Amino acid sequence: MQEPRKLAAGTGGSIVVDRCQVCESTDLAPVIFIGYLPPVNAMPLIGTLPHEQPAYPAQVLHCRRCTLVQLGLVVDPAVLFPPEYPYTSGTTKILRENFAELAQEVAALYPLSPSDLVVDIGSNDGTLLSNFASRGPVHGIEPTNAGKLAIQRGIPTLISFFNRKAVDQVVAEKGRAKIVTATNVFAHIEDIHEVVKPLLTLLRDDGIFISESHYLLSLIDTLQYDTIYHEHLRHYSLTSLAWLLKMHGLEVIHAKRIPTHGGSIRVYAARAGKYAVRPTVATILAEEAAELTMEKLQSFRSKVVQSKISLYALLRDIKTAGHRIYGIGAPSRASTLINYVGLDDGILDCVLEITGSYKVGKYIPGTVIPVLDEARLFEDQPEYAMLLSWHIADELIPKLAARGFKGRFIVPLPEPRIV
Ligand SMILES: [Zn+2]
Repeated sequence: MQEPRKLAAGTGGSIVVDRCQVCESTDLAPVIFIGYLPPVNAMPLIGTLPHEQPAYPAQVLHCRRCTLVQLGLVVDPAVLFPPEYPYTSGTTKILRENFAELAQEVAALYPLSPSDLVVDIGSNDGTLLSNFASRGPVHGIEPTNAGKLAIQRGIPTLISFFNRKAVDQVVAEKGRAKIVTATNVFAHIEDIHEVVKPLLTLLRDDGIFISESHYLLSLIDTLQYDTIYHEHLRHYSLTSLAWLLKMHGLEVIHAKRIPTHGGSIRVYAARAGKYAVRPTVATILAEEAAELTMEKLQSFRSKVVQSKISLYALLRDIKTAGHRIYGIGAPSRASTLINYVGLDDGILDCVLEITGSYKVGKYIPGTVIPVLDEARLFEDQPEYAMLLSWHIADELIPKLAARGFKGRFIVPLPEPRIV
């Protein structure tokens, strides 16, 4: 018997991952080291003198047994999500369309009766559940104040972390669920097995669990190293997700790649033997068996390094010509890109955020690059705007051009290019 896993939660520090967070194997191979990253929410106010700040190593490990790709360090959530960390919704068009499409897919593949309960874990402002609310009962479970927005919108929501107690409360009130959804939840919670266990209590015997997670193959294919930061503990493939679910008696019955967050995977699971397994599962598993080799992971590493050098060279030429470069958007992934590539306030003049964002008036973590109101883009008309939410470049470019920006756009990844 192995000792129980030590948790970073409550330590105020971090824990080195020396065995796989899913299958417990110690056979973990390093994939890439992104450097020491400051916590994504460590954003001092503009004008603050730089002071001592922690930074945590970001090495990505690949489990040779269950194929899970995971960060080699778990940081106490109290460090990553300080109490002053406000919630920002960041709901994009792609995200809204995806949730509508999810509801349509469920209706087509696994039709619900009007009494069937749908529960969303990490239900946010209720956007996902609003697509199910017209046909029958729904319930959200959400730890942040975003849950209050959902309640205002008429989506019943329990403001709580997802745990045994929350599940007991929902089950007592509404009964067990036919559908449980969890989008973008599986990567963030430290003890993933403690999420799946209460889930089994919540789910009816014929219930279906649907998860959406940022997808490892998309990360590799489009060099999304900027999604590597300490809030993302794990990067899943279908293979590693199936392994995790199987440890709890769940079987994957359908899977599909979806476009959210630069490429995600939607996975349907149920208690083993309850439903026919759709051919989509074997197709994706076969693709992963061919793609997720050590050689591919090594080539990912060298492509990331090349991309960093190319981006730096492109920015160097622009700065040599005396032009200004403003960053657009300060999502968490911007912090990784800026710190990994080594950009400072001499290269990136500032980063712009939408009016009202809590990030305006602060510095990008690990730098003194100021975050300013996006109005500056149209007032200052810098020669170049670099899209830090580059995965939605197609949505952003026409929008910013229509609002009057006359300069050119830099899309930093996967191939740095000027538009
Ligand atoms: Zn493993």
